[in-house]
Order: sequence, then C-alpha cells, then structure tokens
Amino acid sequence: MHEITAAVMREPEQFSHETVTLEDPNATEVLVDVRATGVCHTDYHAYTNQDINRPVVLGHEGAGVVEAVGEQVTGVEPGDHVVLWVIPSCGQCEYCSSGRPYLCSQYTETRGTMPDGTKRLADEEGSIDHFFSQSSFATKAVVPERSAIPIREDVPFEIAALLGCGIPTGAGAVLNTATVRAGEDVAVFGCGGVGASAILAADLVGARNVIAVDIDADKLDRMREIGATHVVDASETDPVSEIDRLVGGVDYSFECIGRSRTIEQAFNALDRGGTAVATTTKDTGSLEIDGSAFLMGTSIVGNIVGSIRPRADLPKLADLYAEDKLDLDALLTDTYQLSELDAAFEALHEGDGIRNVVEIDG
Ligand SMILES: [Zn+2]
Ligand SMILES: [Zn+2]
Repeated sequence: MHEITAAVMREPEQFSHETVTLEDPNATEVLVDVRATGVCHTDYHAYTNQDINRPVVLGHEGAGVVEAVGEQVTGVEPGDHVVLWVIPSCGQCEYCSSGRPYLCSQYTETRGTMPDGTKRLADEEGSIDHFFSQSSFATKAVVPERSAIPIREDVPFEIAALLGCGIPTGAGAVLNTATVRAGEDVAVFGCGGVGASAILAADLVGARNVIAVDIDADKLDRMREIGATHVVDASETDPVSEIDRLVGGVDYSFECIGRSRTIEQAFNALDRGGTAVATTTKDTGSLEIDGSAFLMGTSIVGNIVGSIRPRADLPKLADLYAEDKLDLDALLTDTYQLSELDAAFEALHEGDGIRNVVEIDG
C-alpha cells in the first residue's frame, strides 16, 4: 500500500489535490513513479462529463520510472523509464494476436477499473475510479505490464509523456495507418497535437507537399516551422478549392479534429486514388460524401491511436526524437505542476498551444 498525491475529481471540472492510497501491483501489473503526464482532449471530455463515475483520477498519457513489478512481469524491471500507453491490451485476443493491439477486445469500457475489473485507488470513503487503467494525474500509478513501454533514458519525461497517446496517434496515422511514401502529397486538417505530429511524420518520410489546414493563424505559422510546405486558413478560404489550386488534390489527407464537415473536406481534397484518414475517435455523426468519388479509387479509413503497436513503435519514436529526426520539442507548448491542473485544462479549452504537459515531483 502506498500513500500518493493525486488530483481527484469529485465534481465535474474541479480537481481536489489529496493524499489517497494506491495498492501494490498484482502479479501482472507494474508500479510506476509518474514524472510527467500529457493533458489531452480525452481527459477534458471526462473532466466536463456530468455522467462519468466519480471520484476518479484522470490522466492517460503518463511517463515515469518503474518502481516495482508483480511476480509474473518479465517485460520491464525497476528503474526502467517507461511511457504509459493509453490502450491497455490483453495480448491474447484475436486482434492482439494479429498485431492489432489497438483493437483489443478486452479493452473497451474498463475505463473505471484495471483490466481485471478491480480498483487499486481508494480513500477512507471507499474505492476511487481509474481512467484507462492508468490514472496518471498522481505521483504514482499502477498499470498493466503491457501498458508500461520501456524507452531510452535520455528522453526527458515531458517528451516521453507526449508518446502516450496524442502524438503517436498523428504520427502513426502517417507512418502506420496510411504508410505515406516519399514524394506523395499530404494535407492535414486541424493542427493541434495530433495534426502537428502528422505533419512532423509526413516531413520525416519525405512527403512532397505538406499542406496544413486550420483556422488559427498562429498555429499555421508554427506548422510552417515544423515542416508544412503550405498553410491554408480555413476561416478565410475554402480549403478544398485551395488545396486543388495548390496541388490538384492530395494522395493522403488526415482529419485531426473529429467533425463530419472536416472529414468531408478531407475526403473532397483527395486526388484520384487518394485516402482520407479520420484520425480521431470522437463521435462525428454521419457523413455526406459523393459516392461516385469511389469510382476514382478514393477511400476513407479510420485510425485508432495511429495503429500503434506500442512495444515496437514507441521506442522507435523515442529514438527518432533522440536522433533529432522528430522534433517533439516543437510540440510541447507549456508545462504545469500537478497543483495547476485546472489551469492546464483551461488552456486546453482555450486552444492555447499545441500540447501541454504536467510535471510531477514525487
Ligand atoms: Zn490522449
Ligand atoms: Zn487483446
């Protein structure tokens, strides 16, 4: 049993910084000393959701150091620096067994508990809900072994935290889901953390034209700095006709907002044979697209967390960062302390910056 400091949400849109207890990991789990954690829209949706079970400790993009492991754990050991991956996967189901852990059938609605349905967090009143079997808005976390991905130690924790969900979702959309090749043309709709990482990845693989689309001029300026060859301000011009004017349609478009209208625009911006990738998992409602476009070989595909196979892909992304090939520093706008979490969520809501991270001192 450990006493930890956690940002407990007892009421919507309000964190209470408390000392709570965290049980030791079970045989297949890992205790992690959390050093940093990303602030993501998925947390924000839970933060503002009146219906989520409370009390709960949110946070699903953690990074830290392994402190203890259960007796059956073989993949990590105390002292390892780890990224806490967002999707807990079982390793056994049809999807995990076929190399698609992001579709794991065991992970679906276990957000409030660990994968075995039990909880490790509590206060005097009773148990506290987990979030994505992680709950990283806390000084320590217990996670399933398969969610703790060891990476090289020279990556700062605030950058490692970026590798827990949003950034691999965008980079993986380009590298895994779409497999963009050198010389192809790419458009990215929405330039937050997911879109910006798609632009970094498109630049990395040698895409020819990389067109960033957003309604925020400051964000578009940043995208030019990290690899966009063209920017389109969708508050001033129709992005589909502008992309057509610039390059005559793109081979791949990435929608990183999660709205029906921008998914339709991403599809309509395709060249013959092009693929639109819907990168986010928000409920977008129905789409209106012209079915005759499929006669030209176009397609539209979904993207679950960048089709990331965490144990294989996250150490590679960490290597690319350490070798100065993937400028994740450019995506980190601000850092906050755990006690400033409400302010970090306010900044997220206001759309300030690309990605914010909370630093956590044990
Ligand atoms: Zn996230
Ligand atoms: Zn599975």
